[in-house]
Amino acid sequence: MPHFICTACGTQYPDSAAPPAHCVICEEERQYVPPRGQTWTTLAALRIGYVNGFRQYEPGVVGIGSQPQFAIGQRAILVQTPGGNVLWDCISLLDETTVTLIKGLGGLKAIAISHPHFYTTMVEWARAFDCPVHLHIADRDWVMRPDPALRFWDGDTFPLWDGVTLVRCGGHFPGGSVLHWAGGAEGRGVVCAGDILTVATDRKWLSFMRSYPNFIPLSAREVDAIGKAMAPFAFDRIYGHYFDRVIAPDAKAVLEKSVVRYVAAVEGKREY
Ligand SMILES: [Zn+2]
Ligand SMILES: [Zn+2]
Repeated sequence: MPHFICTACGTQYPDSAAPPAHCVICEEERQYVPPRGQTWTTLAALRIGYVNGFRQYEPGVVGIGSQPQFAIGQRAILVQTPGGNVLWDCISLLDETTVTLIKGLGGLKAIAISHPHFYTTMVEWARAFDCPVHLHIADRDWVMRPDPALRFWDGDTFPLWDGVTLVRCGGHFPGGSVLHWAGGAEGRGVVCAGDILTVATDRKWLSFMRSYPNFIPLSAREVDAIGKAMAPFAFDRIYGHYFDRVIAPDAKAVLEKSVVRYVAAVEGKREY
């Protein structure tokens, strides 16, 4: 039986003869059901209509995203270190070309995902590369296709290897996390942020929301907590969740001023 994939959010469900009656992710207030209604596809169909594109941003950081854009449209990031590669975030389309290319780059030692909107077909990726998927336990209820490859971490940080650390920021989702790699940006550090720290369209600022499509803001307390979670880490560059959303240099200063701007706005203290 096929594993149906929601075309609006890219989430893959357990195998079933007919498409699920609902997408739990899309019906929740942070997502949406499109005006046309909920529609479904499969990995086999995606492999016909889409391809994956690759962009190397710097040594050890390769973006992977589907063309044309599918569902939410995020691109994943392959972070390569001597101790092994980690796939940061995930995308629905996994095809033979992608498996061949990533295996040629050393395969995957682990997958780590910022939040449930990017869980997509993580189980397919875990099986193709025979590796675990690290998810924050606070978002466990949003796993639609359970699998033994899924590992749940708890707490505020989870070190992987070679200076790669998962950092829980919360905000958009209670377990919302980013990946910090101390060795990125020639040793100045990079953050792969998903949309937990969202790179704004101007690529000069970050913003933080409970829902981006439905414009639900976070509280000052929640955004302040994001700033505090990132305070111990040094980084010069932030990779957002789309191909063109990158902040560099001085990304840490951009995060700090963006937290200040956000908190002032929601507390009514912004001066115009
Ligand atoms: Zn959905
Ligand atoms: Zn999201």
